[in-house]
Amino acid sequence: MTTTVAPVRLAVIPGDGVGPEVVAATVPVLQRAAEGTGLDLQVTELDWGGERFLREGAAMPADAADVVRAHDAVLFGAVGRPDVPDDELVWGLIIGLRQQLDLAVNVRPVHAFPGVPTRVVDTDGVDLVIVRENTEGEYVGAGGLAHAGTGHDIGIEVAVHSRRVIERAARHAFELAGRRSGRLSLVTKSNAMRHGYPLWDRVVREVAEQHPDVELEVVLVDAMAARLVQSPRSLDVLLAGNLFGDILSDLAAVLAGGMGMAPSANVLPGGDVPGIYEPVHGSAPDIAGRGVANPVACLLSGALLLEDLGHTVAATGIRQAVSAALLDPTHHTPDLGGSATTTDLAAAVLDRMEI
Ligand code: ATP
Ligand code: MG
Repeated sequence: MTTTVAPVRLAVIPGDGVGPEVVAATVPVLQRAAEGTGLDLQVTELDWGGERFLREGAAMPADAADVVRAHDAVLFGAVGRPDVPDDELVWGLIIGLRQQLDLAVNVRPVHAFPGVPTRVVDTDGVDLVIVRENTEGEYVGAGGLAHAGTGHDIGIEVAVHSRRVIERAARHAFELAGRRSGRLSLVTKSNAMRHGYPLWDRVVREVAEQHPDVELEVVLVDAMAARLVQSPRSLDVLLAGNLFGDILSDLAAVLAGGMGMAPSANVLPGGDVPGIYEPVHGSAPDIAGRGVANPVACLLSGALLLEDLGHTVAATGIRQAVSAALLDPTHHTPDLGGSATTTDLAAAVLDRMEI
């Protein structure tokens, strides 16, 4: 009997700085996972980013969103380089793509692998996911300056929270929590903010009624900051708006060993749009070109990508190989206190692939 699994059309955007280094470490691991599970992985590499901007005056083609839509998912490294304005790369490329594709939710798992030093007390067994709303809140750019230049300047930043956007983020978080431990913590600040966050509380409680399998708690962001440090094992899926999600996910990344360990997914829940999977870190110009970037954030982003496309065995195979490689400190890169290179760690992961 032969079964036919649809091929996965993967677009890869290595980008700038350490982006190409961690992506080059990841693609062979994805290919091995695909081979091991009978998956036809078709990789198209796109040269979008800073070099292309310097060469052609545009970081990506005008029809970039259509190019992406012709694929099932995107693996993205990082963009940003000192000689190109951030407007072109960070805003123009990655944030532009997220907006054009309406990738409304940012998913950031935090998993403390055994053997990885974290500089934080007792992170053994930490395994949580932050679901961050990615389009609204405090980051919409609404507001203005009053009395500018008078010495009494007033900056007004207006946060926007809409039911439609809260609902779609909430649905995604409940579905995720249902597949995990069945616990969801909504993070708001409704004791001090009177409109937006109370709306979040109300809408998320309504969505909770359709998910009786998930236990919902509502936690104030200040209390959550303390809890993430004090008892992170009590947490499973966190749902937060744009600002709180941004802050808490950097905090949570530290629990797993820092930026080099933090994967993410940008997705449109329920939408037929390819997700963009990327390490949380940027192009890290301070270490770029030295071959010492930690590839784990990118490898785990690749695992997330395969998992979201339904290829759980391949995803689990990658995670187990990463976990096994990290048990041996000789494979740790400098950010983890070791002296291994990007390719050393990636080779150790490939060696440990059991699928
Ligand atoms: P951006 O604006 O693109 O987010 P940034 O300078 O704010 O850039 P990063 O590029 O994420 O942030 O770098 C932050 C710090 O983390 C730097 O010191 C960098 O060297 C370190 N870092 C980032 N990614 C990695 C990695 N994969 N391995 C090791 N260290 C990393
Ligand atoms: Mg940064």
